[in-house]
Amino acid sequence: MFYISTRDSNKKKYKYTETLLEWLAPDWGLFIPYEYPQISKKELESLKNSPYTDIAFSIKQKFVWWDIPDDILKNLVKNAYRKDKFPDSINWNITPVRKIDENLYIQNLSLWPTAAFKDMAMQFLWQEMNYELTKKWEKLTILWATSWDTWSAAEAAMKGLDSIKLFMLSPEIGMSSFQKAQMWSLSWWNIINISIKWRFDDCQDMVKDLKNSKEFSKLWAVNSINWWRISSQVAYYFSGYLQVVDKIGEEVDFCIPSGNFGNVLSWYIAKKMWLPIRKLIIATNENNVLDRLFKTWVYSLSPASITSSPSMDISKASNYERLVFELLDKNADKLSDYMNTFSEKGTVNLSDYWISVENLKTMWFLSGSSSHFDRLNTIKWVYEKSKTYIDPHTADGIKVARDLRDENIKTICMETALAVKFEDTIKEAIWHIPERETRFKNLENLNMSDSFYLQSVDREELKEFIKNN
Ligand SMILES: *Cc1c(COP(=O)(O)O)cnc(C)c1O
Repeated sequence: MFYISTRDSNKKKYKYTETLLEWLAPDWGLFIPYEYPQISKKELESLKNSPYTDIAFSIKQKFVWWDIPDDILKNLVKNAYRKDKFPDSINWNITPVRKIDENLYIQNLSLWPTAAFKDMAMQFLWQEMNYELTKKWEKLTILWATSWDTWSAAEAAMKGLDSIKLFMLSPEIGMSSFQKAQMWSLSWWNIINISIKWRFDDCQDMVKDLKNSKEFSKLWAVNSINWWRISSQVAYYFSGYLQVVDKIGEEVDFCIPSGNFGNVLSWYIAKKMWLPIRKLIIATNENNVLDRLFKTWVYSLSPASITSSPSMDISKASNYERLVFELLDKNADKLSDYMNTFSEKGTVNLSDYWISVENLKTMWFLSGSSSHFDRLNTIKWVYEKSKTYIDPHTADGIKVARDLRDENIKTICMETALAVKFEDTIKEAIWHIPERETRFKNLENLNMSDSFYLQSVDREELKEFIKNN
């Protein structure tokens, strides 16, 4: 088991731990396993009814390949998914599946601590990272500006880890009171929240600026293309599958609300490992780059508009590079050409690379998109059908799944956030909002303004502050 970079024609080998601390390979490619590990029917049978930690360990172990010793890896998994971190889980099932219609299921990936599915993988990632850094006696300083979902997930996961110090930039403009409160509640000695005078784009520009200067070049960033994050997500599909099938070997479909193609890629890997899955339904919102791509295999950039499922508002899907690499027979030169064409022209057609579009159509992917109106209708439909609340991203998935699914086969839709985070949209759909989970009650009333180390800084003040800390 070893890793290669999508842009390296010499196929230099990397070990699992080497893929962690650098989020891109030195040639700016993405890390990907040279070959996918396999799971046998027997192994799958032995995991039926196992807790998520056992499933996560068994799958992750195949990717780590003894680069982290088994007993240590087991502990990292246990720490990441400790029982006390899941106050709302029933019997500590932390990725529970519920049925909403005949052969239609929702798998909840958002049970904690910030109600976004990215937490699940992030939590594991930081455990692994802390282990690796501590082993090497290294410390990492991270500077970050990101959407609040990813960011609160990261902060919750990094709280109190000795080896990591996080400077998190947030814009003063454009955050809801829930978002601000959630962030304040996450401040800790190694997490320094800095509020910037301007908008989110300005925060990102500041990060880029600083990283480009020599003085700050060692600062690290977190993002959704990190291989450890992708590999940590593979276990969701095993867990979902094992919860719905009557017999191992039965085929199911999955539907995923997609943005940066991270979760879809993890699904693809689970399928490559021989988890018996039939089709993957990819759901987008109005920003339908991926839907168009999987219908025509033409990948074309279009500016993202702001929607009521904001975590899927993307103009390109970074992790898709890993899939194309495989479709191009792991040929790094072809892949570089493909990606360069995309960057230069803003559009690229896979069938120009001697891949038959007919062949591609027989592949495993189906896709569709959804609108604000569809989301409202779907939230209402699920509420009326099962008296449960779903968030707008999950609604995108269920809408597209209902359009495209085969009703004779079980379809599992991924629930990527909880309704509580999007109360305005829920209210628009069903005229009331659900009662909040205990952990979110009164969040906005907490007085945590002390937890902002710095408020309202500009560029020069920021540089000075980071240097001094
Ligand atoms: C990030 C995110 C997505 C999209 O996931 P990708 O892995 O980027 O495709 C969907 N829903 C929610 C709520 C998210 O936060």
